[in-house]
Amino acid sequence: MGKTSPFVRGKKSTGAHLEKSIFQIPLKVLKRYKFYKRSQFCTEAQIEDFQDEQLIKLIQHAGQHVPYYRNLFKNIGFNDSTFRGREDMHKIPTLDKEIVRTRQKELIADNAKKFGITWDSTSGSTGTPLHFVLDDAVQANKIAALLRSYSWAGYKLGKKTFSLQSYYFQEKSYEYSRFYNIIRFDSNKLKKSSAIKVIKEINRLKPEFFMGFPFDILMLSKFAEEEGIVIHSPQSIVTYGETLSKKKREFIEKAYRCKIFDFFSLHECAAMISECEQGNLHLVEDFAFHELLGDGKLVGTSFYNYAMPLIRYEIGDNIVLDDVSKKCECGRNFRIVKEITGKQCDYIETPDGRFLGSVMSHSIDNAKGVLCSQCVQNAIDQIDINIVVDKTYNDDSKIALKKGLRKRLGNEVKINFKVVPQLEKSKSGKTPFIISKIGNKYI
Ligand SMILES: [Zn+2]
Repeated sequence: MGKTSPFVRGKKSTGAHLEKSIFQIPLKVLKRYKFYKRSQFCTEAQIEDFQDEQLIKLIQHAGQHVPYYRNLFKNIGFNDSTFRGREDMHKIPTLDKEIVRTRQKELIADNAKKFGITWDSTSGSTGTPLHFVLDDAVQANKIAALLRSYSWAGYKLGKKTFSLQSYYFQEKSYEYSRFYNIIRFDSNKLKKSSAIKVIKEINRLKPEFFMGFPFDILMLSKFAEEEGIVIHSPQSIVTYGETLSKKKREFIEKAYRCKIFDFFSLHECAAMISECEQGNLHLVEDFAFHELLGDGKLVGTSFYNYAMPLIRYEIGDNIVLDDVSKKCECGRNFRIVKEITGKQCDYIETPDGRFLGSVMSHSIDNAKGVLCSQCVQNAIDQIDINIVVDKTYNDDSKIALKKGLRKRLGNEVKINFKVVPQLEKSKSGKTPFIISKIGNKYI
C-alpha cells in the first residue's frame, strides 16, 4: 500500500472497504451524509453557487499552502484572490498523472497535517502506479456520497449484502460477518469450485444487495448456470471498477433478475458518477467539479482534499454527456452521462482455474518508476508484463512488481517483464490493462 513520504507522517490506507471506513470516521460521515441527503435535490443555481464557493476556497488554499500551485500560479500570472469559480477554472492548467507521480511532495499542502493524512495508492485505468494523500474530510465525503449513491439503489446500512472485492483472504475464499451482515467473497479466488460454494451460501442467506466488479458478478452467474443452480435474485446490484458494457448489463440483469446500478469513482476522489432510480447516470456534482475537455476527456476536482488538492485532474476516462436540457425524472439536477468509456480490459485465466479481471490492476500499485503497464496473456501459463519506465525504475521496482503479481497469479505462471517504448493497443485503438491472446475477451 502507500509508501509514507519521509517529511509527513500519516496513516496508511487499509484499503477502502466500505464497512471498515465507516467505523473509522463515523461522526464526520454521518454529518456529511445528512448534507448529501439534502443537497441531491438542490436547484441548478444552488449547485452552481455551491461549486463556486467550494472552488474559490480550494483554489485560494492551494495558492497559499501548496508549493506546486504556489509556483504554478506565479509562473502563469494567475491571481487566486480574484478567482471567481467555475468560469475561471480554464485559466488553471490541467494536472496529469505524470505530474502527480513525479512531483508528489510539492502537491502536499504545507499545513497538511492539520487536515489528517492517509496515504493511498492506485493504478487506475491506465496501469500507472500512483501514491497520494487523502485527508479526513475527503474520506468522510467519499463514504457519505457513496452511501447516498448506494441508497439510490435501495441500499441501507445493515442491509444483508454480498460483496465481491479484493479481500486478500489467506485460505478461505469467503466469509460471512454477522456484525456487518455481509458475505465477503475474495475476487482473487474467483474459480468455479469456490464460486459454487459461495453461491450455495448466497442461496441460503439471501442477501438483498450485491456489489462488485461487473466481470466477477457475471462469472459467478455463469458458474451457477453451468452447474444448473438458480442463483438467488437480490433487490439490486451495484457495480463499479470497470466499464459496464450494454452487453454485460443485459447478461447480469437477466441472470440475477434485478436491476443494476452502475457506479464510477476513483481513489483520488476527483470524480463520481452514479446511476439513479430512473436508470440515468449522474455526475455527482456536490462531491466534485467535473469538466469535459475535447473528445469527452473527463477532468475532475475534488472539493474536499485540502491535504493534497488535485485541481483539474485528468482522470484518464472519457464520457459522453446527455443533452444538458434533459431533466431526469428522479428530480435531481445533476447532469446526465450517456456513456462512460473507461476501463475495458480482457481477463486473465490462471492454471489453477481462477479468473482475474480488473482486480489485477492492484498488483502493480507499488512499482517505482513504472509509468504505465499492461498484462498480456499469451498462454495459460505465460504472461508478459509490458512496462514503460523512467530512470527511477530499478531492481527493487522489479521485485515489488513481481511480488504483487505473484500474490494474485500464483507460482505456476511464467512472468516475463518487458520494458517497452509503448504499450500494445487493441483493434479499437484503446490501450487495455489486460490483453488476452487465449480468448478471454472483454465483453
Ligand atoms: Zn436521475
